[in-house]
Amino acid sequence: MTDREAKSPATSGNRPAETAALDVLIVGAGFGGLAALHRFRDEKGYSVRLIEAASGAGGVWYWNGYPGARCDVESLQYALAFSPDLTREWNWTERFAAQPEILAYIDYVVDRFDMAKDMRLETRVTSARYDAANARWKVETDRGDRYDVRYLVMATGPLSTPYTPPWPGQDEFTGQIYHTGRWPREPVDLKGKRVAIIGTGSSGVQAATAISKEAGHLFVFQRTPHHIVPAANRPLPDDEQDAVKNRFAELYAQWTATPAGMAWRSLPTDDPVVTGDKSALEVDDAERDAIFERAWNYGGTTLHRSFNDLLIDERASQFANEFIARKIATIVRDPGTAAKLVPTQYYGTKRLILETGYYEMFNRSNVTLVDMKSDPIESLTPAGIRTGKQDFEVDAIIFATGYDALTGSLGRINIRGQDDAALADVWRDGPKSHLGIMVGGFPNLFLVAGPQSPSTLANVIVANEQQVGWIADAVTYLDDHDLKAMEPEPAAQADWVKEVNARGEASIYTKGANWYWGANIEGKSPAFLCFINFAEYKAICDDIADSGYPGFKLLSGARLEQASARD
Ligand code: NAP
Repeated sequence: MTDREAKSPATSGNRPAETAALDVLIVGAGFGGLAALHRFRDEKGYSVRLIEAASGAGGVWYWNGYPGARCDVESLQYALAFSPDLTREWNWTERFAAQPEILAYIDYVVDRFDMAKDMRLETRVTSARYDAANARWKVETDRGDRYDVRYLVMATGPLSTPYTPPWPGQDEFTGQIYHTGRWPREPVDLKGKRVAIIGTGSSGVQAATAISKEAGHLFVFQRTPHHIVPAANRPLPDDEQDAVKNRFAELYAQWTATPAGMAWRSLPTDDPVVTGDKSALEVDDAERDAIFERAWNYGGTTLHRSFNDLLIDERASQFANEFIARKIATIVRDPGTAAKLVPTQYYGTKRLILETGYYEMFNRSNVTLVDMKSDPIESLTPAGIRTGKQDFEVDAIIFATGYDALTGSLGRINIRGQDDAALADVWRDGPKSHLGIMVGGFPNLFLVAGPQSPSTLANVIVANEQQVGWIADAVTYLDDHDLKAMEPEPAAQADWVKEVNARGEASIYTKGANWYWGANIEGKSPAFLCFINFAEYKAICDDIADSGYPGFKLLSGARLEQASARD
């Protein structure tokens, strides 16, 4: 147990099983779950329990303790906004916070709002069954707890079920195997070791850069070269933080009115010159390069916003690729390695990655780039990894191979709605929901950062709080109108599924393989998993709430009695 876990008063150890009737059960102690705990318990006065499988709060930030883990959203807006006091009190040290600092922030939130007493850690929900006659959920855990609750809020995280490709031989490898998304709590000593890291998404890029500094030799297995640009991380001075804190309410309102729920030229860290309102096609080569150069040096996601058509126009996207290729060629000394790092897919089809020294890492004599596209992995062997052409002998293999995104965690819990239907079966051909928050046939089950919500294409904390707020208002509406339950109308749900997929199909995201539509997982049903445009989503949610929840069936006690009499 780490110091952090030992300190946590909610660490469950051998606590006795509990049986309780409650208003709300929340599953998952990431940002979404903590926001829900605060909202339901402290603002609404409901009885609440929060169940978490890990030994501490933090969700994805708890599990992703790999070397180099860092947020790629600016610290000044990657934080909970529900408490002005909290916003005022907390100071970040860097423009992009590292994982330990984010965990320290989460622990601070847990202590500050006395959350631990209502959390049950090291506890996994094993089943949740809807009792239609009483409109209640019966939830069981692996510790023998039994909860009988009115509302079940699943905040299990959109990127929380790690994915490992099913290469044969994994049991035969005699060295250590790790996954970035399940990094051990104990220190991992890779000093001087031969290490293979598989995958060059955000996790792989960050972990490889850090591990290359201590490994004896690092083999970086890359299939697709991603778009990777400098973070330009740096210390965050007090005056920059104060400038945001002093106008926080106003700025937050601006962020929630953007498609990504993020600042766009409202942070002191935003580049004042790169305006992003020109097409990459309307400027000459020299001006285009100057704007790209400025954005590259300014760092963060500035390149993303350098022109207004990078994510829309094929030629504009090509210009970005060509610029990145020129940059790589100036940094990476070996031309063969440099060429392999150049992305060829459309800009934006995979999420932009922020780096700090990643390209430079390939100039080290202890780092080798292995191209899995031309020479795929066939198996793991007792000594390492076998591709079609080579054997790599290593002491440790790190999978940085991503997640079964959005549906992975929910699909693995035995959630049974009306008529004992299993959520996993209902979603077999792709998720079905209304607003990504509720699912037909599963009344009073609410999802935070669920599939078909915009969470993973937006600032996820902003989106979490917006959804938690919508859920809390819906529940208050039920209580105020003496209603027992709500669930989507079939037609409204069908329209939502259609809309989510239509937006996805019209976007850049479906022009390449990625987890936004399940293409990273062998055998996963292709369906677009995210709603594109947070601001429009918020407006739709607000409108539904303001109009008395059209598109949702609202069930009174009398309707429940009629229904159960018919059964
Ligand atoms: P990811 O982006 O899905 O990357 C997975 C990597 O593994 C890719 O390079 C992928 O190659 C490779 N891979 C997967 N299956 C493979 C197979 N069968 N054969 C060969 N290669 C395979 O996963 P991630 O890096 O963990 O990131 C997931 C998401 O988490 C990110 O998109 C981001 O939203 C978030 N994240 C954020 C941060 C941050 O804030 N800085 C850090 C980490 C993660 P292909 O590209 O060819 O599929």
